[in-house]
Amino acid sequence: MNILVLGGGGREHAIAWALAKSPRTDNLYAAPGNGGTDSVAQNVAGLNAEDGQAVLEFVKGNAIDLVVIGPEAPLVAGVADVLREAGVAVFGPDAQGAQLEGSKTYSKEFMQANGIPTARYGSFTELEPALEYVHELGAPVVVKADGLAAGKGVVVADTIEVAENAVRSCFDGAFGSAGSKVLVEECLTGPECSLLAFVSGGKAHCMATAQDHKRAFDGDRGPNTGGMGVYSPVPIVTDKELADMTHMMKVAAAATAREPFKNDYRGVLYGGFMLTPEGPKVLEYNARFGDPETQVVLPRLKTDLVDVMMAVAEGRPDDIELEWDDQWAVCVVLASAGYPGKYEKGKVILGVEDAEVMDGVTVFHAGTARNADGELVTAGGRVLNVVALGKTFDEAREKAYEACDVINFEGKQLRSDIGAKAAAGRGAWE
Ligand code: AMP
Repeated sequence: MNILVLGGGGREHAIAWALAKSPRTDNLYAAPGNGGTDSVAQNVAGLNAEDGQAVLEFVKGNAIDLVVIGPEAPLVAGVADVLREAGVAVFGPDAQGAQLEGSKTYSKEFMQANGIPTARYGSFTELEPALEYVHELGAPVVVKADGLAAGKGVVVADTIEVAENAVRSCFDGAFGSAGSKVLVEECLTGPECSLLAFVSGGKAHCMATAQDHKRAFDGDRGPNTGGMGVYSPVPIVTDKELADMTHMMKVAAAATAREPFKNDYRGVLYGGFMLTPEGPKVLEYNARFGDPETQVVLPRLKTDLVDVMMAVAEGRPDDIELEWDDQWAVCVVLASAGYPGKYEKGKVILGVEDAEVMDGVTVFHAGTARNADGELVTAGGRVLNVVALGKTFDEAREKAYEACDVINFEGKQLRSDIGAKAAAGRGAWE
């Protein structure tokens, strides 16, 4: 089979890596890919992943049998719709399904309509009513831009003043059209946990739980990032919570088989949960694999990913049976100095090969590229995802950090406490 993966982050490297392991894969392409995908796939520079017609032309020209859409932007832009209409097998929901991520208001209405527990909220297109609702809920309170804002559109405000400023800055255009609608939401408390599911034909096959570390610095301090580290499964989740989350994912998947969906949500539904004292509640949905969650989930998947993705793309959910490695996976992100603010690019990266030969270690690239001399260099904020599998949670954490030690580039920035809170137990969140 010939397969095209759209995207160029750590998530897409992990997906390409898993697809490349399948005996069914002949030619694998990544567009645009990165300095890591080029070791398992052929990178395609210059193909605009958000342009459905351009992708379709590439598909026809290269006899592609399956297109896997990694990031949210092409999904929301309707690339899956264009391809599916032309009869191409696509892993990724259509634009309607992608609205579960593309509009937070839409997503909230979906949760309410289907009885899925979530935070109380109001959705506003005008300043005054939004500010009134901030006062009604009181601090702490959460303010969110409705549309896609690359993970930057959420402010958890400790004071009314911070919340009011966040509302104003959304309406003033801080997130462009994504902020023309603003959500004001009750602030929930508890540990966060993600549960991803393969969804097709109205059915959900849940993957393993994972927990991200959003803040830049140790002790969950500093600015929010795209994610500084993650592990799977999440040891502090109770059986009851897992059962509740799984049920909620199945309810959501079943809803995608009804109007206004055309029963072709075929891809990943990512549930972001808060484990509140009243039970798990949904914070958000994403319409695709999470980054960096994918980097710890896919290395534990024993089932052939091509088989799974084809079954999803062709609407054959009953053909999916997932088998998991019972080892733990921990991923530590190596970032450029200054990330998530300004950072420099082009720093030579050394030691990746040494890390990769370590027991149970895989390195997924995010912001990397090759320079004119063929050297691996930094090319983004998040540079590498260092993943280790271990028989225990502690072993996986130790191995991941040992591997991080052998990789070097100028300005290497990492958190030293990935998984530390979970290792300390549920009490660490009290
Ligand atoms: P979202 O993009 O909606 O998942 O929000 C990003 C992050 O903001 C989440 O991962 C949470 O850490 C935080 N967050 C979002 N909604 C809430 C809420 N209702 N209460 C507390 N924290 C929240």
